[in-house]
Amino acid sequence: MMLHGLCFLVLMVSTTHALYFTVTNNAGTSPGGAAFRDKVGTACSRRTLISATRFTLRCVFQQKNLTDRKHVDKISLFVDDMDGVDDMDGVAYTSNDQIHLSARYVGNYNGDVKTEVTGVLYHEMVHVWQWNGNGQAPGGLIEGIADYVRLKANYAPSHWVKPGQGQKWDQGYDVTARFLDYCDSLKSGFVAQLNKLMRSGYSDQFFVQLLSKPVDQLWRDYKAKYGNIS
Ligand SMILES: [Zn+2]
Repeated sequence: MMLHGLCFLVLMVSTTHALYFTVTNNAGTSPGGAAFRDKVGTACSRRTLISATRFTLRCVFQQKNLTDRKHVDKISLFVDDMDGVDDMDGVAYTSNDQIHLSARYVGNYNGDVKTEVTGVLYHEMVHVWQWNGNGQAPGGLIEGIADYVRLKANYAPSHWVKPGQGQKWDQGYDVTARFLDYCDSLKSGFVAQLNKLMRSGYSDQFFVQLLSKPVDQLWRDYKAKYGNIS
């Protein structure tokens, strides 16, 4: 169903709980808004919201039961004509189950913009669903988990750091995503269990609990594995 550019779709996640997805292009006739309409599109991005939700909940967080998940009724994507805000250098940000994507970023992007937007939406979708340790978790870890999901979904851009690069474990984004991928290689499902522990609080001891080593030791092991490159 499509009404004045506003699209609705219902994803039935159980017989008792429906999840709604909406996509709204607020950028109208601006170059970025037109680029979104022509090169990405509301229908395609709505499908991406659904696939990103499925991938995050099922494949990465392994939350089979509704009681394990955050309670979310509706996820909205807005394409906005905004400059230089918040997350990811003004690319996009998420709050209150609303994802805001910069039309200017879409309009100015050189390359496969559809794939890039898909990757950005996977990252932002993680913010909708992840636990944040009741606000106590390091921001770099929150962003690292979001990029970890993007990495596992095969939407990591080519400009990301390579495995082993970076200065500290909670540097954030791609650096932390690569480190979490290493941790998950030590114990499959590590990120799912870490996220689960982050439901009510946060402590670096979670790494000891799950992998029997302090996070700083894990970081040193990780760096050594890749020859301590910068
Ligand atoms: Zn983010």
